Amino acid sequence: MTRPYNFSAGPAAMPEAVLTQAAAEMLDWHGSGMGVMEMSHRGKEFGQIYAEAEADLRELLAVPSNFKLLFMQGGGLAENAIVPLNLSCGEVADFVITGSWSQKSADEAKRYCNSHEAANTQAGGFTTLPDPAGWQLSTQPAYVHICSNETINGVEYHELPDLKALGCDAPLVIDFSSHVASRPVDWSRVGLAFGGAQKNLGPAGLTLVVVRDDLLDRALPICPSAFSYKTVADNQSMFNTPPTYSMYIAGLVFKWLKRQGGIAAVEACNIAKATLLYDAIDTSALYVNRVAKTCRSRMNVPFYLLDERLNDAFLAGARARGLLQLKGHKSVGGMRASIYNAMPLAGVQALITYLRDFEAQNG
Ligand SMILES: *Cc1c(COP(=O)(O)O)cnc(C)c1O
Repeated sequence: MTRPYNFSAGPAAMPEAVLTQAAAEMLDWHGSGMGVMEMSHRGKEFGQIYAEAEADLRELLAVPSNFKLLFMQGGGLAENAIVPLNLSCGEVADFVITGSWSQKSADEAKRYCNSHEAANTQAGGFTTLPDPAGWQLSTQPAYVHICSNETINGVEYHELPDLKALGCDAPLVIDFSSHVASRPVDWSRVGLAFGGAQKNLGPAGLTLVVVRDDLLDRALPICPSAFSYKTVADNQSMFNTPPTYSMYIAGLVFKWLKRQGGIAAVEACNIAKATLLYDAIDTSALYVNRVAKTCRSRMNVPFYLLDERLNDAFLAGARARGLLQLKGHKSVGGMRASIYNAMPLAGVQALITYLRDFEAQNG
């Protein structure tokens, strides 16, 4: 049986090979007599799962040795609080608002520090990225936050800003929840990166944090111990019980990514998929994507039917063809195709065929 293609923005489709392997290992992991969710996080079996996941991810993302990889919980939204609790020192942090997620981050930070808006593209409908040269940075921000891929608005930084070149010494914080592991990261420009797992890495419940060593030890006294980066790092992400099953599945995804040829090969595939889909939208008379071409997301492709009365028929026809979860986010409407790493090229091709057929029947 072939499975439908699932375009969900998150939790999102998983590589089928990973699901098959997890099913086979559900009752008995590697002859241990236990399923992974039944294991002690401090036992040797899970110790091996953790060590391999950490090493594989470090290799895939080419994370330098002066950064810690932390497996946390709470998702991207919890990090919106955990980052200022750890990095702001209660002073000022700068935010570049390019869509729904960076706006949420700026709002949450206000509970812990002074949140300064360095740029905001809302007036243009969040369809562009502001040139860093024009950002109104604070004199000495504790950090500068961006969302490097806006999942809802479909806007992606194809190059991370170089804060040093702007005369700013502050660490750059990136929320890379929805494009982590889809492309390389220039760690020389990053102080901290965080992302929920449920878009590109594995099941919800796991949150990845990659943090430079010198940023570990500046948490506010009110920071909960379980959310202190230093405490989590000092305990190899096992200060409290980590999301063990989600870490195991993410570990299987990392091995799958390595089998695909690593991040460079995965990125090439992501570029091919996104190019095909945007071309199909741009050359049609029924569909439109309003994001500037230089900052269109390779992962989340929002689009509108120019005749919105056709929306329900479009979605029903898609479902009938095994193309699932194409409805856009409720805050922006329209459609959205999320084409993360696990979406095969054939899935994008099937979507494009449907776009053309539906247009031919309704255009
Ligand atoms: C999904 C997402 C989040 C929110 O993650 P939760 O796990 O629901 O808290 C945050 N930021 C971005 C960019 C996202 O795509």
